[in-house]
Amino acid sequence: MNRELQNSETNPLEAMLHRFDIAAKRLDLDPGLYQILERPDREIIVAIPVQMEDRSIKVFTGYRVQHSVARGPGKGGVRFDRNVTLDEVRALAAWMTWKCAVVNVPFGGAKGGVICDPGKMTQVELERLTRRYMASIMDLIGPDRDVPAPDVNTNPQIMAWMMDTYSMHMRQSQPGVVTGKPIELGGSHGRVRATGYGVGLMTRESLYRMGLDPKQCKAAVQGAGNVGGVSAESLHALGIKVCAISDISGALYNDDGLDMSVVSAHLREHRTLEGLTCGDHIDGDAVLTLDVDVLVPAALENVITQKNAHDVKATVIVEGANGPMTPSAEAILDERGIFVCPDILANAGGVTVSYFEWVQNRLGYYWDERDVNERLEKIMVDAFQSVCGLADRESVSARTASYMLAIERVAHVYKLRGLYA
Ligand code: GLU
Repeated sequence: MNRELQNSETNPLEAMLHRFDIAAKRLDLDPGLYQILERPDREIIVAIPVQMEDRSIKVFTGYRVQHSVARGPGKGGVRFDRNVTLDEVRALAAWMTWKCAVVNVPFGGAKGGVICDPGKMTQVELERLTRRYMASIMDLIGPDRDVPAPDVNTNPQIMAWMMDTYSMHMRQSQPGVVTGKPIELGGSHGRVRATGYGVGLMTRESLYRMGLDPKQCKAAVQGAGNVGGVSAESLHALGIKVCAISDISGALYNDDGLDMSVVSAHLREHRTLEGLTCGDHIDGDAVLTLDVDVLVPAALENVITQKNAHDVKATVIVEGANGPMTPSAEAILDERGIFVCPDILANAGGVTVSYFEWVQNRLGYYWDERDVNERLEKIMVDAFQSVCGLADRESVSARTASYMLAIERVAHVYKLRGLYA
């Protein structure tokens, strides 16, 4: 069980396994269960030929990894990105297992990815890619098998194509096969905003834990996509001054607080921070080390590393993204007394409302947004309290406590189910 920290600064799988190791040791996890949980149940690699609009054929690589289906169907998003790797998808699949267990929704963990550059593809090409990817992984997918959802660069429209492709093969409409669908196709109210809304809830709880008043706090958010953008709005709604937000074009900064209504309206229309004038345009990476109380990394993995961890000034970090901090960065931040609300708790709002969507699809009865948000708040605040209670009792970080809680719940289910020989 002794894992070297060789590539954990760059490889998310190693970073995940490092945290898994620490928690497994604290739990004195049975070595057999350790072996089961350290690797995915199943993974598939598919070649996805797509006819591009210029009539040429391009073959993309896609993955679907199921880390565990013991607590329920596999659950987790699909990302379309140039930099997708199998190890990244494996890490993200395991994070889904832990995430679903932390908030105690009855799902396992899975993740998908396709290596592509969606920004350079037309809608027609994206639709063909999505449908062929779904058709290729379909044997593993289903409302009771594995339920995909949006992630980096995928959205409700892409979920609609996935749902339609699956339904056409099944000869009947199957809304529960994916979540994050458009409302008209059985999507849930509140799903699009759920991850960012949950980040807001977890920021509020983290600040209370640290004895800080949100209204006296400043924040910086890395990422202006679905998670970063809505997180910034949610922080603003708590009375926190959002001083900076970034995307791939750079960062927008105003020490007096950005006018979030202007930023949000601009993002909705243009999907980029470019063209905004309500702050100074600064270097994107600078958001991580600004003089603020709250930092929300809500973009990609491994952005807080041992190189910049010493320069982080926030007292509270709430991980909107999956795996934004490397283990060695975390050691530095822990040492400095910074509170980190870990990804598998902080960004679990998305999958929690995905669970609500799946439940509503099965019921054929739909809730309004207030219902969804109230249920979400209860689940997330309960999970926060369970994690922090365990952290206090065991004198460990919230990260280690969240892994311990998750591993214990998952391991318990494996023990109950036993091994099918
Ligand atoms: N992609 C999101 C995540 O990483 C949501 C997954 C889901 O809703 O299944 O948590």
